[in-house]
Amino acid sequence: MEIAFNKKPSTATNQPKTKLWMPKQVLITPAALDEPWGQQIYERVKALGLPVQELKQNRITGLRGEDERETYRKAKSTLAIVTAPASALRLQPIPPSADYQFHLAEGCPAHCQYCYLAGSLQGPPVIRAFANLPTILENLPKYKQAGQVTTFEASCYTDPLGIEHLTGSLAETIRFFGEQEGMHLRWVTKFDQVDNLLQLPHNGNTQPRISINTDFIAKRVEGGTSFLKARLAAIRKLALPKAAGGGGYKVGLVIAPIMPLPDWEEQYTDLLDRLEQALDFECEVTFELISHRFTPGSKAILQEWYPNTQVNFDESSRSLKFNKFGGKKYVYPPVTMNMLRSFFYSELKTHFPNAPIKYWT
Ligand code: SF4
Repeated sequence: MEIAFNKKPSTATNQPKTKLWMPKQVLITPAALDEPWGQQIYERVKALGLPVQELKQNRITGLRGEDERETYRKAKSTLAIVTAPASALRLQPIPPSADYQFHLAEGCPAHCQYCYLAGSLQGPPVIRAFANLPTILENLPKYKQAGQVTTFEASCYTDPLGIEHLTGSLAETIRFFGEQEGMHLRWVTKFDQVDNLLQLPHNGNTQPRISINTDFIAKRVEGGTSFLKARLAAIRKLALPKAAGGGGYKVGLVIAPIMPLPDWEEQYTDLLDRLEQALDFECEVTFELISHRFTPGSKAILQEWYPNTQVNFDESSRSLKFNKFGGKKYVYPPVTMNMLRSFFYSELKTHFPNAPIKYWT
């Protein structure tokens, strides 16, 4: 859907530079070394001067510290190059984001105090990049559904752009999807280093999304991610036509996790104003809106990882919901949810009248 934007100043200049994540140690398993893509990652990290240890076995061990905090610190500064297990080739649905999820990696170098991965992945939160990428990609067309475009989400267990300088796997995946019929790739990030993705032959088959939030949340609880200003500049680059030096992608914004902190209306209005300035040209854009939620398991892990967290995990101010497997999650009570939802639907109609809101949750 096309949108006409007001001519307001661009946010593309003078954005602060994000420091790329460099692991303190890189481990590579024998199985990963047998894979040409694993060797490609190995060469990249060596060229960056990172210390690489060739393991004798395919299991990653030795990442446990004296306590959870130390385990967290060790694991979050480690990149492990491994092969994805056979189970990774049995794809699971992931509504409402996409038809299926698949994984280029598991784990993320950022430090968001509400991280969605807490409780989803087992063991120390090491960042595992998958060396058998060609096998993972060649498996995807089996899931293509006849007569419709099938969508595949690549960021359920990682932030694929946050480690792209170390792996190159996201660019390879975008190229792969560019050659497919009836299959679209979706991925989301809180990083901004998109320059190497702009000239890729994506053929309209990839929708990059940037996850944004108020300046306050981005600064206080999204450690290790790109500044909001840089993320807004990145979405602009991705959406600009190729002829104008951009990526020519249909883009998306994920506003998450939405939290009704003091002055939230003012802060989210400011966010949408700045977004409108960043996208002051005709482009296709969609929105996904996700309110903050947590489970008993994710709360316990996050409070161990971030003992001084500023995120509110007080169950007494939440409503309890059950998923289809009986798991508990705490969401905002209906009155708060309706207030937030109405605000965003109304503000987005004003700022981006033609942009579809794919879902609110
Ligand atoms: Fe978790 Fe996403 Fe933040 Fe990474 S960017 S720490 S995956 S919430």
